[in-house]
Amino acid sequence: MTLVLLRDARATGNSVAAIDHLLQIGYELSRAERACRPYADPVTSAYCLLSRADQEAAAQAASDAAIERRLDREERPLAWAYLQIEVAAEVAEVTRDALELRQSLDQLDQGGEEELARAAEMHRLLEAATDRARSLWRDSDEVREYAFGGESLGGGRERGHDHAPSKVEAALTEWTEGGDWDLSEGTFWVHDHAWPIDPVTGEELDADRVDVRVAFEPAEPVCGRGREHDWQSPHSVLGGLRENPGVWGKGGGVVIREVCAYCAAYRVTDTWAQDGAIQGLQSVAYEDADDDSLAWVAGRHAREQRDQVVKACRTIEDDPAHDHLPRYLDASGDDLERIGDGEWQIVRVGSADTTDQDLDALNRLLADKLGRGWRTAWSRNAGGDATITLKALS
Ligand SMILES: [Zn+2]
Repeated sequence: MTLVLLRDARATGNSVAAIDHLLQIGYELSRAERACRPYADPVTSAYCLLSRADQEAAAQAASDAAIERRLDREERPLAWAYLQIEVAAEVAEVTRDALELRQSLDQLDQGGEEELARAAEMHRLLEAATDRARSLWRDSDEVREYAFGGESLGGGRERGHDHAPSKVEAALTEWTEGGDWDLSEGTFWVHDHAWPIDPVTGEELDADRVDVRVAFEPAEPVCGRGREHDWQSPHSVLGGLRENPGVWGKGGGVVIREVCAYCAAYRVTDTWAQDGAIQGLQSVAYEDADDDSLAWVAGRHAREQRDQVVKACRTIEDDPAHDHLPRYLDASGDDLERIGDGEWQIVRVGSADTTDQDLDALNRLLADKLGRGWRTAWSRNAGGDATITLKALS
C-alpha cells in the first residue's frame, strides 16, 4: 500500500494521499513529507523506501563507503548521493535475494511474499535511481578524483588529483609541464591523460578521459653578454628566394632559417612539424654558428663600425666652427681603411703644413663624437703625413 501511494505521488506530483497514509501507520509528519518528496532528495526517499532494519544497515554501509572513498557530503554532494543510493540498492538486492532463497525453500508465508515483492520493487527503483544519480554526477562540474598519467609517467598512473572537470585540463597541462625533460634537442610533444575515478566503483572512467599534448621547446642558447639574439635573414648566408631568404615550403607550412646578427647561431622554425599523425605543429631548433654565418656577422660588424666613423667625421666636417681644421675624408670615405678586427685608420689627414694643435683638436673631436666605445690617436710619418688610428673597444 505504501509503495503504491508513493509511486502515485511520484507520477502525479500529488503526495497528499501518500502522506495521509504514512501518518495513519505512525510516521511523524516531517518524516512522512520527506518520504513523499519525489526525487527531491533521492537519498532520503531511498532510505524511506527501505524497512527500518535495512535503513540502518544501508546507512552504516554507505557511511563506511563514504569514509573509504573520502567523500565529504558538503563538498561533493552529487558523488555522495550517488554512493548512498548505490549502497541502498545493494541492501535492497541482498534483501530480495535472501527472500528469494527462502521462497525457493518454501519457507515464505503470505507476509513474506509481500515483503519479497516490495524488496524486488525497491531494488528496481533504486537501480534506476543509481543510474540517474551517476549521470547527474558525471555531467556536473563537481570536484572529483582523477588519475594522471601518460608519457610523463612512462604509461603509469598517479591517483589522488582532485579537480573540477572544467579545470582538469589546465591542471593536467601544468602537471605535464613540470616534467623533467632533456631540452637540448628540438621541440617535442608529451601526451598525458586524466581519468576521473568513479566514486562508487573506484574505476577509471575511460569514456570521460581528458587528453593533453604539451610542447616542450628547446632551451634557447645564450647569445653572449646578456644580450637577446637578433634574428636576421641574410640572403648571402641562407640562400633561397631573394625576397624571402631562408624560407622553404614544407607541406602546408614553411621551414624558416635565421641567423643571429650577434652570435651567428642559427634558429630553424618549422611550421609544419609532425607529432605522430598530427601535422601543422610548430617546432623550433637551434644550430651552432658556422664559417658562413660567422663571416656574415664579422662583415656586418665591420660595416657598422665604418658607418659609425664616417658619421662622426661628417658631423665634424659639416660644422662651420671646425672649418679651420683639415679636410680628412674624401666624399666616398676611401681614406678610411680597416687594418684589423675593430681597428681603423684615416690616412692622408691634412698635409705636412697641418699643425700638431689642429691634429690634437681633430683627434679630440673624433673621440668625443664616437663615444666611449672607441680609442683614437694620431701620428705622423717621416714624410709629415698624418694618420688617425681608431680602435673599437667592444
Ligand atoms: Zn645571438
